[in-house]
Amino acid sequence: MEPSRRIEIAAAFVLVAGLLSGPAVAQSGKSGVERLYILNCGEGVAGDISRWSPGVNVGKSMDFVDSCYLIKHSQGWMLWDTGVADAIAAMPDGQRPPEPRMTHWRRSKTLAAQLAELGVKPSDIKFVAVSHTHPDHIGNVTMFPQSMLLVQKLEYEWPSPVGPRFKPEQPVTKLEGDHDVFGDGSVTLVATPGHTPGHQSLLVKLPRTGPVLLSGDAVHFKENWENRRVPEGNDSKDRTTASMQRLADVIAKEHAQLWINHDKVQRDGQRMSPEFYD
Ligand SMILES: [Zn+2]
Repeated sequence: MEPSRRIEIAAAFVLVAGLLSGPAVAQSGKSGVERLYILNCGEGVAGDISRWSPGVNVGKSMDFVDSCYLIKHSQGWMLWDTGVADAIAAMPDGQRPPEPRMTHWRRSKTLAAQLAELGVKPSDIKFVAVSHTHPDHIGNVTMFPQSMLLVQKLEYEWPSPVGPRFKPEQPVTKLEGDHDVFGDGSVTLVATPGHTPGHQSLLVKLPRTGPVLLSGDAVHFKENWENRRVPEGNDSKDRTTASMQRLADVIAKEHAQLWINHDKVQRDGQRMSPEFYD
């Protein structure tokens, strides 16, 4: 073989080796999201489902679940939503709602116990992000006094009839729109106002499962998603409808799955912690 031909072959080998190692380097280095755990953060019975779908299924009750999601990223742990308060687990009959059309919550497992089962301490959690500030999503934020809270500014500043929702000493980043949490595009908060003024959803690009869009309460269950129904108590009907379209656009662009936080039928088919999605 001529020397020049040998050099060409050697160059081709280098090129192929580079192509093979390229994606592996990108996976471990640039996009650092590794796995996602679904935690049981409450079990509820919605008294009258027409609260969430005006005029439809009046007087019918529905079982809800409440989900938290724990994300392992090479830069640290992130928790998405915190569920109903762990204290409800000690209430023999759960927490009755102030009026019967709302949701009666129970907790069969605490968030603290599920983190402990994974060997994760509350102080290990780098970011706690909440979809919005209703009690079934922020029930355990005080368990993470060292974590950086990621919440939309509009939501943080939304006046509450019962006083401040967060302790003033809680570290917080008040967001104004979408936010790339780890700076690598793998975990992105997506502003979806309407249910509340500063509601947000979360897009997680898992290495094997692919992109998953976590709804928060931009929608509560599949039937409402398919029919674009807006709950009666939402802050803005127009913004809710626009946010549902935003979710649909993200799903189409990213080829993402939509995981609906409170949808029991969907979650019954999913793997719960300590199993995980990677
Ligand atoms: Zn909720």
